[in-house]
Amino acid sequence: MPLPRGLPIVDHHCHLSPHGDGVRAVERFRAAGGTHLFLASQNYEGTVPLSIESYEHQFETTWLLAQRAHEEVGVRVYPVLAPYPVDLLRAAERIGPAAALELHRAALELAGRWVREKRAVAIGEVGRPHFAVPPEVTDVVEPAFRYALGVARDTDCPVVVHCSDLDEAGFRELAERAREAGLPPGRIVKHYARRRVDPAASGGVVPSYLARRELVRQVVSSAGPWFLETDFLDDPRRPGAVLDLATVPRRAVAIAADSPNGPDRLWIPFVESVERVYGWRPELGPEGAAE
Ligand SMILES: [Zn+2]
Repeated sequence: MPLPRGLPIVDHHCHLSPHGDGVRAVERFRAAGGTHLFLASQNYEGTVPLSIESYEHQFETTWLLAQRAHEEVGVRVYPVLAPYPVDLLRAAERIGPAAALELHRAALELAGRWVREKRAVAIGEVGRPHFAVPPEVTDVVEPAFRYALGVARDTDCPVVVHCSDLDEAGFRELAERAREAGLPPGRIVKHYARRRVDPAASGGVVPSYLARRELVRQVVSSAGPWFLETDFLDDPRRPGAVLDLATVPRRAVAIAADSPNGPDRLWIPFVESVERVYGWRPELGPEGAAE
């Protein structure tokens, strides 16, 4: 079965770096049929930002990569901005946990402002380190996460969460945290989801599934909302550490070919889920390129 006409092909979570493939990676995505990317900010410098100006510069870098991808390749890129969760740990080592938390909050406020100014579409990625941290740092990780949820609530935007792999109980716990912060659970996306969760048992928190072949097969019949992502890192020091940016378009072709209703299923991750979580639909122009 061919891909449905007018269907955008969306990777819901990737990174690009000015020191990596950058826009060239987006060319691979486009060549494979991709049309829209959600681009998460990251620390581009290799040293932890210790000032709000460094974060401003980082967000500008993300935004410029997004602009270039659109102008040069015709792929629409939606920035997702936040101070990287691990920054909090690295900054705590340098300036102490209290000052690190204060900087982290200021950077989250800055991300919220960028969303309100329509230069980004969500707060992310935020959350908890996926590895063990010392107790004095644990004490600032949770307040930082709560603060991020509060910024998303005040900004009225989704929040993309980075944390360890979660089962349905873990999803429900996240939903509870959202409600405590006054945020609807349906505005929380658990990125890098590596196992299928039952939508009826995950408290309304939305999985963004890693587009591995086996996992995609398992989730394709799931009720929405859910997304597909590569979490492409664009890190020249770690080639092949993650899925390439061409993966989601390739999976889309495979889904369409796999079963008679495969093409219909693709509207869930690429259009309907974006509309449910973000409130708008990725669109294609008459030429089939991103609007
Ligand atoms: Zn990421």
